[in-house]
Amino acid sequence: MTDLKYEISDILEQAGDEKEFFGSIDIDSIMMGEREVEFKNPVIIKGVLKNVGHGILAEGKYQTMIINECSRCLDQFDQELIGDLEELFVSDKEKYDKEDREVFPITNRTIDLEPAVYQLVVTEIPFKPLCKSDCSGICPTCGKNLNKETHDCKEESIDIRMSKLKDIFKKSEEG
Ligand SMILES: [Zn+2]
Ligand SMILES: [Zn+2]
Repeated sequence: MTDLKYEISDILEQAGDEKEFFGSIDIDSIMMGEREVEFKNPVIIKGVLKNVGHGILAEGKYQTMIINECSRCLDQFDQELIGDLEELFVSDKEKYDKEDREVFPITNRTIDLEPAVYQLVVTEIPFKPLCKSDCSGICPTCGKNLNKETHDCKEESIDIRMSKLKDIFKKSEEG
C-alpha cells in the first residue's frame, strides 16, 4: 500500500508557492452498510498543493474503478468514480474544529491526503447503484434477470389468448 503523504517544507514558508502531487492508493473494499464494495483499480490522485497563507490547499482530481452491485438486478458491474479534490491542510487544526470547518492537519511539515481521499471516495459511491439507467431488474415471479433472459410470466397469458384465437380461426375454417 502506497501512502499519500507529501513533505511540504519547500512550499511551507512562502504564500503563493506550489508544487504538483501525484499518487495512488490501494483500497481493497469498503463496507457500505450491508454491502461490500470492492475496488478494481487503485485510487489515483493528482493536482497541486498551494500555500494559501493560512494553510496548504490540495486541489486536484481523483479517479478509481469499483465493482458495484446493481440494486435492481443484483449483477456486478464496473463503475468509474471520478471527482474533484479540494482540501485545506492547516497547522492549527483546533481553531477550525471550533468553527466546525473540516480541515486536515499538517503534521511534521507533512500532509496526508489519504483520509481526505478515502472520505471523498466513500461519499461518491452511490447508495442505490444501477448497472444501467434502464435496468430491467429481476422478475418477482420467476426470478430471472430480465436484462439477459426472457421469461414467460407475462407472455404466458398472451400465448393462451393467441392459442384461443387460433382455435377460433381453426373452427371457422372448419365450419
Ligand atoms: Zn441492473
Ligand atoms: Zn418472470
